Amino acid sequence: MKILLTGGAGFIGSHLTKKLLEQGHAVISLDNLDTYYDPKIKRQNIRQFSAHPNYLFIEGDIRDRTLLDALFRLYGCDTVVHLAARAGVRPSVQNPSLYFDVNVNGTLSVLEAMRQAGLRRMVMASSSSVYGNARVPFTESDACDRPLSPYAASKRSAELLAHTYHHLHGFDISCLRFFTVYGPGQRPEMAISQFTERVLNGLPITLFGDGTTARDYTYIDDIIHGILNAIDHLNGYSVLNIGGSDPISLRDLVSFIEQATGEAALINWQPMQPGDVERTYADVSLARKRIDYSPSVRIEEGIQRFVDWYKAKQEVVAV
Ligand code: NAD
Repeated sequence: MKILLTGGAGFIGSHLTKKLLEQGHAVISLDNLDTYYDPKIKRQNIRQFSAHPNYLFIEGDIRDRTLLDALFRLYGCDTVVHLAARAGVRPSVQNPSLYFDVNVNGTLSVLEAMRQAGLRRMVMASSSSVYGNARVPFTESDACDRPLSPYAASKRSAELLAHTYHHLHGFDISCLRFFTVYGPGQRPEMAISQFTERVLNGLPITLFGDGTTARDYTYIDDIIHGILNAIDHLNGYSVLNIGGSDPISLRDLVSFIEQATGEAALINWQPMQPGDVERTYADVSLARKRIDYSPSVRIEEGIQRFVDWYKAKQEVVAV
C-alpha cells in the first residue's frame, strides 16, 4: 500500500512509519514540524528513514490545500492515516482557536483533498478526552457531548466531520480513540517523560489533584498494532477505543517510575488543572471484536522499557 501519513514526524507517527516500512508499504509523511515541542526531536525521529527507498518526507501543513492536491496528484495514495494535530489538553485551554484551526479545519482540509482526489480510506487519531468525565469504563456508545477542554471538543468535532464524509461520500473511516500513549520517544511534555527526567535528576515533580486521578496508559506498540489492524479492517464508519484497559492512579504511576529508576520522587502537590478529567478507562471489547485489537504490554513492563530507553538516550548524549 502507499500511505499518506500526516503527523508522521511526531511520537506515534514515527513509530508507525517504522512499522509500515518494515511491512513493505510506501510512506509519504507530511508534517509541518510545529513548535508545540522542540522540532529537533521530530527531525531526529525522521532522520532514521531518510535513506529508505519507500519513504518520502514532505514538510508542510495539512491546512494547505494546494499542497495536498499536488501531493495526491503527483504521488497517489491508497490510504490516509491522519495523526497530525495540536495535542495536549491544558495548552488548548489557553489557545482554543489554534486547536480548532489545526484539528478541525486541518482535518476538513485532508478530507476535502481526499474527496477531490477520489480517495476514500482513512484511519484517524481521536482521543479518550472526548469522553469527558463520563462513567468508566468508557464505551464507544457513550454520548461524548460534554467535552471538558477545547482539545477534546476539537477531536470530537473531527470525528463528526469524518462521519459526514462517510455518509455523504462513502468514505471508509475509522476514528481511533487513543488513551494516554507512552513508550520510547513519548512527547517530552507528557507526564511519564517529565517525571522520569526529573526523578533521575533529583528534581521535584508536580502532581495535580490528590493522586487519585487515574489514566489508562497505553504502550506505543499496542497503539501501532491498533492502527495497523484498523487499516486492514477499514469498512464503513467506526469509532474504536484503543487503550490499555488497565487504568492506574497517579500515585501508582509515580511508584512504578520510582521502581524502574531506582530513585525516590520528590513531590510538589498542586490543585487539579482546568480541562483535566478525573479518570480514563477504555472498554476495548468493540475493538477486539471489530479489528482483533488487544493490549499486550502491562504498565510495569512498559514503564521499565521507557526508563531503559531514556537512560540509554542520556548515555548517548553524554558520550
Ligand atoms: P505529536 O505532537 O508528537 O505528533 C503530531 C504531529 O503532527 C507533530 O509532529 C506535528 O509537527 C504535526 N502537526 C501538527 N500540526 C500540523 C499541521 N498543521 N500540519 C502538519 N503536521 C502537523 O503527537 P502524538 O502524541 O504523536 O499524537 C499523534 C495523534 O494522536 C494526535 O492526533 C493526537 O491528538 C492523538 N492522540 C495522542 C495521544 C497521546 O497520548 N500521545 C492520546 C490521544 C490522542
